[in-house]
Amino acid sequence: MECLFLIKPGEILLKKENQQEFVRRLIQQIHKRMAGTGGRIEEYPGRFFLFVDEKHAERAEFALSHCPGLNGYSKAIMCPKTVEAILSAAEAVAAKGIASGGIKFKVETRRSDKSFPLGSYATSAAAGEAILARYPELRVDVHHPDFIVNIEIRERAYVYGATDPGPRGLPTGSSGKGLLLLSGGIDSPVAGYMMAKRGAPLECVYFHAYPYTSVEAQRKVESLARRIAAWSGSLRLWVIPFTDVQVQIKKLAEEDAATIMLRSAMMEAADILAFKVGAKAIITGESLGQVASQTAENMAITEAPSHFPVFRPLIGVDKEETVSMAKKIGTFDISILPYEDCCVLFSPKHPLLKPSYAEQTAAYASLGLTPLIEASLAAAERFVYKYKDVLEDFGLS
Ligand code: ATP
Ligand code: MG
Repeated sequence: MECLFLIKPGEILLKKENQQEFVRRLIQQIHKRMAGTGGRIEEYPGRFFLFVDEKHAERAEFALSHCPGLNGYSKAIMCPKTVEAILSAAEAVAAKGIASGGIKFKVETRRSDKSFPLGSYATSAAAGEAILARYPELRVDVHHPDFIVNIEIRERAYVYGATDPGPRGLPTGSSGKGLLLLSGGIDSPVAGYMMAKRGAPLECVYFHAYPYTSVEAQRKVESLARRIAAWSGSLRLWVIPFTDVQVQIKKLAEEDAATIMLRSAMMEAADILAFKVGAKAIITGESLGQVASQTAENMAITEAPSHFPVFRPLIGVDKEETVSMAKKIGTFDISILPYEDCCVLFSPKHPLLKPSYAEQTAAYASLGLTPLIEASLAAAERFVYKYKDVLEDFGLS
């Protein structure tokens, strides 16, 4: 049996001239995420509908709740535009509300087809009465309902209960690709998710310092990248062996500037990689003042090697908020696994807090790291995570 999801797009409806382009991308993303299910999408002004076989309903709920560009979705009953059919659908939706423990309810009707004989208010009243007649234990409460029975009378009639949230934002592919500097920490996966919500397809890069960092640390980053793909869609992870670069920094740089030098080297490598993969921006998980290396002065220096804008979506977000987002997007439990990231091992005891831009960019240039960085990029290992791998992780393939 086929079921129906009513999809509420969000920000793309605010677009004017190029709205169709965003709509096309959102539909394309839903199609991609539902590949192989035979699901089809119908588009009407302000609403999309996904029709899919009931056996793929769980998969559809996963795809829709993770698909940027979408404000929310509801499993809906579609029926002919007759009062009788609408009332019986309303009773069915109320039955679900009861099953999830609801007692107080209200009916809300939106009628864009003005030829329907009842007005919105009269439709809601009729549905409310029908529901009460069928389920006398219920009570109408328009201010604090436990559940709402929504009726939309448009090209057809749709009746539904709760709307589950989507990620909001813009559909994947409506912005340029972002290269995410992904460490094993809590912040960078959240930063990737935030930019994915702005429509950026992602590519990830991780710098590791084997044997100073463990294979497990790398596996953790692999799991994080795979988890982020649930939101961004398929992505690639580049693992760059950075031990030689780090050892060279340790040998040649002033001890207190080691972190700035390493960050600059990562940025130089990311810049080269971004050109190669066609990224339009570099993304990091930095947050102003979170640690000594994340001051404005430090960031000016460490972003100097990049020709791309550096996006730091967490710049004004505090740690608690980041942690709650990490929990929500499913990366937190992976991030807190106890493996060192490469920066910790080489961290100076007293890092520079207000370094001089001129001095430190000159110091960085004098290290002459470019050949080592190019060699590290040549030795990169590449992992590809397809959306179907994500579905497999969630037992939905
Ligand atoms: P995170 O929780 O994301 O690791 P953090 O608060 O620990 O961030 P830092 O360790 O100072 O902060 O790193 C700042 C940012 O630099 C990270 O958010 C990430 O984008 C990038 N970064 C740090 N280490 C690496 C690494 N080994 N590989 C790739 N990117 C890294
Ligand atoms: Mg870190």
